[in-house]
Amino acid sequence: MESDETWSLDLSDLPVSRRANEIACAVEKNAVTVIIGETGSGKTTQIPQILLKAGVIAEDKAVCVTQPRRVAAVSVAKRVAEEMRVRVGEEVGYGVRFEDRTSTATRIKYVTDGTLLRELLEDPQLSKYSIVVLDEAHERSLNTDILFGVLKKLVTTRAEKFRLVITSATLDGEKFSRYFGSPVFTIPGRTYPVQIAHSTHAPRSYFESAIETVMDIHLNAGPGDVLCFLTGRDEIEKCCRRIEDAVRTTRQCMDMQVLPLYASLTPDMQSRVFQPHDANVRRVIVATNIAETSLTVPGIVFVIDPGVVKQIEYDAATGMESLQVVQISKVQAQQRAGRAGRTQAGRCYRLYTKDALEHDMPKVTRPEIQRTCLVATILYLKTLDLKDLDVMTFDFLDAPDPDLIADALRQLYLLGGIDDDGNPTRVGREMSTLPLEPSLARAMVEARHFGCVLETATVAAMLSVGQHYDEATSLLELVSHDDFLMGDHIVLLRVFQAWERDGYRRSFLKRFSLSERGMEFARDIRKQLLGLVEVTRTSHDQGLRMLRRSLCVGFATKIAHRLPHHNGYRTLGEHSTLCQVYPTMARQLADDDGLLPEWILFHEFVLTSRPYLRYVCKIESEWISKQREMLSKKIDIHRLSRGALNPSLSSQLNTKPTATEVDVGLKAPGAR
Ligand code: ADP
Ligand code: MG
Repeated sequence: MESDETWSLDLSDLPVSRRANEIACAVEKNAVTVIIGETGSGKTTQIPQILLKAGVIAEDKAVCVTQPRRVAAVSVAKRVAEEMRVRVGEEVGYGVRFEDRTSTATRIKYVTDGTLLRELLEDPQLSKYSIVVLDEAHERSLNTDILFGVLKKLVTTRAEKFRLVITSATLDGEKFSRYFGSPVFTIPGRTYPVQIAHSTHAPRSYFESAIETVMDIHLNAGPGDVLCFLTGRDEIEKCCRRIEDAVRTTRQCMDMQVLPLYASLTPDMQSRVFQPHDANVRRVIVATNIAETSLTVPGIVFVIDPGVVKQIEYDAATGMESLQVVQISKVQAQQRAGRAGRTQAGRCYRLYTKDALEHDMPKVTRPEIQRTCLVATILYLKTLDLKDLDVMTFDFLDAPDPDLIADALRQLYLLGGIDDDGNPTRVGREMSTLPLEPSLARAMVEARHFGCVLETATVAAMLSVGQHYDEATSLLELVSHDDFLMGDHIVLLRVFQAWERDGYRRSFLKRFSLSERGMEFARDIRKQLLGLVEVTRTSHDQGLRMLRRSLCVGFATKIAHRLPHHNGYRTLGEHSTLCQVYPTMARQLADDDGLLPEWILFHEFVLTSRPYLRYVCKIESEWISKQREMLSKKIDIHRLSRGALNPSLSSQLNTKPTATEVDVGLKAPGAR
């Protein structure tokens, strides 16, 4: 096997490097350049270095390269720093949420697309950069799609020289080119042939079929590493264990190393797939679609593609989100197969029939902007103060359904983020400065008024992380019975407080089987939030009550009422929906009669096997009378969509607080 070739990779031999001059000229000459090249051709790691060497980046400025994923931004920055023989944070750095590794010397900066959106709020001209590269454009992440629209405008309005580069691994250049009115630069690939095998019939379980295929390759095929796509963390971990067990019971074959790869894996574990390994060991990497285009796993000869991916789908009518396993698109199938032909001829096993590929699978993946809740997006566009903005007709590459936009405007209005004329309120602007989803941001804004900033920041941080503990049983030592009855938010608060009292020790996390990564991350987020909002104290015994009241304001659109005689709930609002509280949580809430609280607010409304409310908190009906009144109000969506003709002027005139607005005393970012 020739896996050595990957490790001693000659950078000048990458397809992108061989076109260095042409790329530099194209970017110098055109305001926008679209560059198409196979995964692994060197777009992400080489293009910024080429632009730097060729002097296309202005002396005192930097190139900013966006990635849809945090892990990609960090790992690529490390790789490029290595190639340039500098330390991360010097010439090459990265900026992701809650972590900035850059300095004044930084000329190449990798960021998540979300980070660049936040930088735009503070510096609408992006004056630090002379070039922005929107990388992995084919992924069509929500944030990258917003950047398309916003930067397309900036290209024509910025006085100083500014260049935009769009890179994609799929052949969608025409579409980008039409939208940006720019030339397309296609980099010829350098791939080896990939033989494709389809299943003759649809497997009963793609999971079992994937394991069988791994073992079949291991026992019967020649040397070469395997990349197997699955849908998520739990499934991948289970698959790895099953393969390891299967290998242990077979004899007479080469050793195998099984490695998982997914976004929430610790960085150390992730980097194992890039490390050299013994050629006598067959590696099997079981990955989410993170390995489809954003991380290039070296040395793969065999690819196993079950034809599925986990995807979020938001239903604006009910406010329900589902994270479901759906079929991949034809473009994705092609990408996955391509992973096999990077260093030598390879083979791809598709665990679905040729007929399914041709007739059932969509041609391309639907962009995230068309299947997600847009409250944060709309608030963002509103607070950017773009001239003559009408969010309904904003120049998106692919416009979201008007219902999605209307839903977002309605929610934003009910939260007090925009006023009757669709202009951002002071509350809305304060919300947008907090690195939180809109409901939590709104609760934080309210918390100062109620004197419970510490508590709310803790809960917001814990909810932002989402991964804390597996079994609630050991928590009974940390959380009193009464607190349990109040709901998940209070439980999360008590867990964090107990850890804080223990001096944030690791042993504590072990003892109560809390997720070390999740809890450390929550601690970071909380610290950052407390740096942004001034802490006001309240008496200790009022804290919980006030916390729940702040949450009521933030979650005004996420309230449910229990049915009279059993534990079913009905969500409030125009499209009231029957649902239940997620079982593991209900256990905590039920009182002695086994009945759950009459009124609750919920953090998530998800469709799994049925509609479930997750992370719920008990509230009192008298706290939400105003919210209920608002929910039944008729709203003029078109007025909210357009805003006033001169947004920046009208928002200055509009500083009179509405009833829900309060003085939150936000500190300037970075202030202590
Ligand atoms: P693209 O963005 O076009 O998909 P990249 O710039 O990410 O390509 O990768 C270019 C080459 O560098 C690939 O052959 C890849 O295997 C290699 N490479 C990228 N990152 C690493 C890394 N962390 N370790 C080793 N090789 C890497
Ligand atoms: Mg790339």
